[in-house]
Amino acid sequence: MKFQYWNPQIEKMPRADLELLQLQKLKAEIDIAFRTPFYKERLTKIGIKSSDDIKTLDDLKKIPFTTKDDLRDGFPYGFLAIPKEDVIRLHSSSGTTGIPTVIYFSKDDIKRWADFMARCIYSTGCTKNDVFQNMITYGLFTGGLGFHQGGEEVGMLVIPAGAGNTARQFKMMQDYGTTVLHATPSFLLHLETKMKEAGVERDSLVIKKAFGGAEPYSEDTRKRIEALLKVDVYNSYGLSEMNGPGVAFECQCKDGLHIWEDGYIAEIVNPDTLQPVKEGETGELVLTILCREATPILRYRTRDLTSFYTEPCACGRTHRKLRRITGRSDDMLIINGVNVFPSQIEEVIMSMKEVGNNYLIIVEKDGALDKLTVKTEVNAETFMDDSRHLNALKEKIKETLQTSISISPKVELQESGSLPISEGKAVRVIDNRPKDV
Ligand code: AMP
Ligand code: ZN
Repeated sequence: MKFQYWNPQIEKMPRADLELLQLQKLKAEIDIAFRTPFYKERLTKIGIKSSDDIKTLDDLKKIPFTTKDDLRDGFPYGFLAIPKEDVIRLHSSSGTTGIPTVIYFSKDDIKRWADFMARCIYSTGCTKNDVFQNMITYGLFTGGLGFHQGGEEVGMLVIPAGAGNTARQFKMMQDYGTTVLHATPSFLLHLETKMKEAGVERDSLVIKKAFGGAEPYSEDTRKRIEALLKVDVYNSYGLSEMNGPGVAFECQCKDGLHIWEDGYIAEIVNPDTLQPVKEGETGELVLTILCREATPILRYRTRDLTSFYTEPCACGRTHRKLRRITGRSDDMLIINGVNVFPSQIEEVIMSMKEVGNNYLIIVEKDGALDKLTVKTEVNAETFMDDSRHLNALKEKIKETLQTSISISPKVELQESGSLPISEGKAVRVIDNRPKDV
């Protein structure tokens, strides 16, 4: 296999040099962090006065973890390290209600992010001759613009197709000779069914590669997409708190995701003890960003479960590889790429006086896509009402949920006392999606 490198000097840098570079960048990031109200207080509290107190990479471990709740508490400007007039963009986490977690970018931050994305895309063998159809949500979600900028940086022709509308997607693939796709794995699987329905011949398309990310998927799912669409599928990992996509990506070896260690310091800890796991063991990924000046974030608990490869990669890159994310250490659900916490659904349901005390959230597969059903008990009075009232209530719940979690679920109303009550801890979520990761 012939490998290509966007930045060979960095990508193949000997580990000792890479770690030295990380230390330099970490020190710079600590100085940046001191310019935010949040870290100024936190670092001072633990006796760190400046980056001079960080002498080795191990010293990072003196700093407490940062959590999603910290980011929320710091809303809107607690984590901002530059003057507001130097901020040129913001992104925020998908599908959350209440206080969002918001990330600000300077002009240089955006350039750096685009460069990391270009590195990812190029490492899969793409070149400026490719036509890239970015079939993912644009907007506050980072997947759209993140890949868009990276594709342009590589010099590909980027089609900002956005998500959904399969008929139009096929038409664009045919009209513009698309060679590379980006979508959630569930949408990629769904595409094949739609292709058959629409009578689109695979031979009328010249697609060769697809990037799949934003949600967990198994090796079997990758193989299935590859067989159905006849493309090579590469796993893409990222999260809005760490810019978005561009954190870790599979190279042409398609065996684990290189985490770009000149941009991020990765640790894996046991989610219960918060101590580092043994080399190669699974735990929660903790990330420190080294490539952002507007919003520094140190030791962020991603809640994503993974492990490091212990062997070097055949491609020659020295940046360590992560295994596929196998799940989360919290209860967040990812439904067709959108993050949903069960508590958000509960908040909506419980705010309605007609609704009883018990509810159940069911997630399952409907073909290739995820389907969300919310079953909720209604109080006896409401249940006796005529069906028009019940239907109106159903619509109201559905619409309110759509507004708050950006997903329109199926809503079922049940008689009070009809949903199962568990003896121990309430079981509110049933996730029937196949667990073959
Ligand atoms: P967001 O901040 O909305 O971009 O969501 C980020 C979250 O999506 C991550 O913390 C992961 O839980 C999930 N995610 C993103 N990419 C992947 C991937 N390739 N595999 C598994 N989960 C992913
Ligand atoms: Zn590699």
